[in-house]
Amino acid sequence: ASAPAPAPLAWFDGALVPGDTLQAGLTTHAMHYGSGVFEGVRAYATDFGAAVFRLPEHLERMRRGADMFGLPFDPAQATDAVLATLRANGHRDAYIRPLAWFGEGGFGLDVEGHVPHMMVASTATHVHLNGARARLGVSRWRRNPADSLPPLKLCGGYVNSILAKREAKARGFDEALFTDREGRVVECTGANVFMVQGGALTAVAHPDALDGITRDTLLQLTGAQARAVSLEELLQADEVFACGTAAEVAPVAQIEDRHYGDNPVTRELQALYGRIVRGREPAWRHWLTAV
Ligand code: PMP
Repeated sequence: ASAPAPAPLAWFDGALVPGDTLQAGLTTHAMHYGSGVFEGVRAYATDFGAAVFRLPEHLERMRRGADMFGLPFDPAQATDAVLATLRANGHRDAYIRPLAWFGEGGFGLDVEGHVPHMMVASTATHVHLNGARARLGVSRWRRNPADSLPPLKLCGGYVNSILAKREAKARGFDEALFTDREGRVVECTGANVFMVQGGALTAVAHPDALDGITRDTLLQLTGAQARAVSLEELLQADEVFACGTAAEVAPVAQIEDRHYGDNPVTRELQALYGRIVRGREPAWRHWLTAV
């Protein structure tokens, strides 16, 4: 029998360590109050080796989140940490999780004086994360309003997504769709929304939604219009899909009682996105950082 595979290495405060030895104390500020910021990034196997898709954009968004808390964050160091983690693990197709947070320093809300930490973990992705077509339930919870909590990847903000996801699952759906009090579509718990109507592609725009990098990718590729979309309009669309780093381009099968049929435009975009992230479209190679 062969020896068990070693746990993947993770980058923690400047050094590569076995991922299963990562530890944080129970007084960690971020564990009590959510004072951390994370990213979800992906690497893909390409003809020129493993490459990370839109890494600078992910780390720039993380920097904006870190600035909200006054967490120190150096994108150059984070870049090195991501690449070092992928190289150390020999990962090609991988999901990468950088996280920066406040640790020790007591139970006060003021982050002043708390110890900042950062880690990067990488998990090999053997299968596409986007399998079946998603069934969405319209959430009874509202998305965190941007004037209460900015739509960045702040750890505490994801409690809102957890509540919505739990409620959608309890009602038999796979995922939740947030709408606002005026009936406009916001986003899903971890993905942005697009629709196709009469052949025209539209990106849902909403101030409370995360400014998704996959959404931006598709906007740049297609020149689609981005605008506010009501739930009513979404239910009448020919095709709806969600998109995100983990979800990639994920066709929606159903929203509540509305079932969608064939989704040719979504499938075409799914294939195009798949070629781009694997470096098969020379015009968009600049979006890839070689590992
Ligand atoms: N919205 C939310 C709330 C998310 O967590 C994510 C995943 N980062 C997205 C949208 C999609 O963003 P991206 O395409 O940058 O992964």
